[in-house]
Amino acid sequence: MRTQMATEAGRTTAPSEDRALVGPNLLAVLDGVTAKPETGCEHGVGWFADQLSGEILRFAHLEPGVALAKAVEQAAELHSGTCDLDHPDSPSVAIAMVQTKDDVLRYLVLGDATVVVDAKSELLVVSDTQTKRTAGAKVADVGHALTGEVPLRDVRRVAILSDGAARAVELFNLFDWRQALELMAANGPDDLIRRMRAVEKEDVKAVEWPRKKISDDATVVFLDR
Ligand SMILES: [Zn+2]
Repeated sequence: MRTQMATEAGRTTAPSEDRALVGPNLLAVLDGVTAKPETGCEHGVGWFADQLSGEILRFAHLEPGVALAKAVEQAAELHSGTCDLDHPDSPSVAIAMVQTKDDVLRYLVLGDATVVVDAKSELLVVSDTQTKRTAGAKVADVGHALTGEVPLRDVRRVAILSDGAARAVELFNLFDWRQALELMAANGPDDLIRRMRAVEKEDVKAVEWPRKKISDDATVVFLDR
C-alpha cells in the first residue's frame, strides 16, 4: 500500500488550519473551522487541531468513533482550565478518518470533510455538508459522525479530503470522483490541488463559481493499493 499526502494553505498570509495524519493503520484529515472573533479559547484553531491530531494518533488502536471520542475528551482537558469550552464557537474541526485493521477498512466523517473509497464495483463518497457538525469540546458530538466499514480486500483506492480540496470535484466539476482517483494514482494528490488552484486563479472574484473563500486550505491523503 502506498500513501501520499498533499496540503496547501488557502492564503499566503495565514497558516493552514488543515492537518493530515498518516499513522501506522490510520489516515485522517482535520480541517479547523474558521474562528469567529470570540471563541472563549486563548489558544486558537491551529492549536486545537494539533492537540486533537496528537490525541487521535494516541488512540489509533481503537475503532475510529471510540478513538475520536477519547481524543476530544483529552483535548478538552488540555484547555478546560484556561478556556470556556461551553462557548458556542469554541475551536472545532471537520474530520474524516480511515482505519485499516483486522481485514476491514473503517471510516468516520464528522463535518464537511470527505472520504472516497473505491471498493471494486462500488464507489463510496461520504461527507456531511449539511448539518455543520464538527469535533470540538463535546464528546457527544462524535456520536453524530457518519461511519461505516468495507472489507479491506475490496478496497482499491482511498482519498480523504478537506472541503477546500473536495471542491475540485464538488464545486468546479473538474472531474468526477472516479477520475479524481485516477488522476491522483497517476500524478499524485498534489496534481489535483494544482489544477484546482489554476481554476481558482481564473475566477478570483468568485463570479463563475460563487464561493466564500477564493481559495481554501486544501489537503488530501491518498491511499493506493
Ligand atoms: Zn483554549
